[in-house]
Amino acid sequence: MKNKLLDDTLERLTNAASIAGIPKSTMDKLSKPDRIIEVKVPLQMDNGKIKELLGYRVQYNNWLGPYKGGIRYHEAVDLDEIRVLALWMVIKSAVVNVPFGGGKGGIQIDPKTLSKQELEQMTRSFTRLLTPYIGPEMDVPAPDVNTNAMIMDWIASEYIKNQPFDSTQGKKLNSKNEQNKLKAVVTGKSLENGGSKGRENATAMGGFYILEELVKKLNLKKPLTVAAQGFGNVGSNIAEKLCQNGYVIVALSDSKHALYDPKGLDVESVLVYKRESGNVPKVEGKEVTKEELLELPVDILIPAALEDAITSQNAPHIAAKVVLEMANGPMSQEGDKILSQRNIFVVPDVLANAGGVVVSYFEWYQNMHGEDWSLKEIKNKLKEKMVGAFKEVWEIAQEKKIDLRTAAYILALRRLHGALPPKS
Ligand code: NAP
Repeated sequence: MKNKLLDDTLERLTNAASIAGIPKSTMDKLSKPDRIIEVKVPLQMDNGKIKELLGYRVQYNNWLGPYKGGIRYHEAVDLDEIRVLALWMVIKSAVVNVPFGGGKGGIQIDPKTLSKQELEQMTRSFTRLLTPYIGPEMDVPAPDVNTNAMIMDWIASEYIKNQPFDSTQGKKLNSKNEQNKLKAVVTGKSLENGGSKGRENATAMGGFYILEELVKKLNLKKPLTVAAQGFGNVGSNIAEKLCQNGYVIVALSDSKHALYDPKGLDVESVLVYKRESGNVPKVEGKEVTKEELLELPVDILIPAALEDAITSQNAPHIAAKVVLEMANGPMSQEGDKILSQRNIFVVPDVLANAGGVVVSYFEWYQNMHGEDWSLKEIKNKLKEKMVGAFKEVWEIAQEKKIDLRTAAYILALRRLHGALPPKS
């Protein structure tokens, strides 16, 4: 099923390449990742038992800059999933024009079953195994599903700890400045450990800027109703931002429950409950199933959880006018075709959720140059990047009379092809 996602993406890319006149030789180069790292991650449990977990890092392409992409901890992680997520990162970095390539990593584990100590110990083991392959100018991981600033801090500290020593003097070779630069090995760190202001909700903010542009283009009138699937970093932050800006959040879900109130949910109180208990409350609104949430009669549907939320099975029943793909790959190719036939507007993941990689780039840049940008500066720069990318994608879509995903793929392929030396 998951290798179908890769095949589907390559097929969609090939279609975009033929519209844009990108040569087959370039597409052949993009059909396989540069490197696949597969490791056994030892996890010492608190009871003393050792488990071996499967860990992956796929470095897909670095024509535009160091490999870049999140680390996911989830029981469903496998190589097929990490590989396609890495390819999507290649496209995404190119769409928003940041000097990064694409990569992705993960461990097959449900981190909710681990103690904090086990989580840290597993993260540090994984980092030691990846240390020869990552680095500020080589490959720069970031947070993804079930990973956060605390986990990124552990990765940075373990990576720095394992840098070469000067054996004659017993000191690290790196000066203080170089040590600080080493923190750029990973983004999404805490502010105290070299993180950037605005990174925590960057993905959501980026999606918000894109949606605001689309609402103007489609001439949609607020208040607009929204159903959001997934209430983690991306889902909760975008729900919060939208309800402050003329949207009504009528439905929300996490991995356990889905809530629906056609008059609007109190997002703040759901957030407080979720932070305290780990779940969205059963009592708020009317409980619907997670599957029903996707088919509710709303203006905007926001998948912000995992892959394949919208497929040929439920696409005929999606009732939203717009789908804003905040998750990576939430829609199968068949689902996408059905929505397109039904004139439902889809904003593709590689554009909608690119705010995270944009502010990751800002964090990386600040670490590398010893700078500290204000939140205002970051918000302005993020908005400029996202609105700029939206306009470019929109223009291609209008000019070629194609959907936004194909247009975004064309924009990315032009940049990737342009990065190749003339004769390749
Ligand atoms: P996260 O913080 O781990 O949150 C994921 C959320 O999805 C959780 O609320 C989880 O529920 C929920 N979920 C899982 N399975 C679900 C299901 N079947 N139905 C409904 N909800 C479900 O992860 P995240 O960082 O927000 O990432 C979400 C998506 O955005 C992923 O596709 C990720 O690749 C993409 N993305 C993230 C970033 C970023 O900066 N974090 C950037 C770009 C793209 P529980 O709370 O119950 O676990």
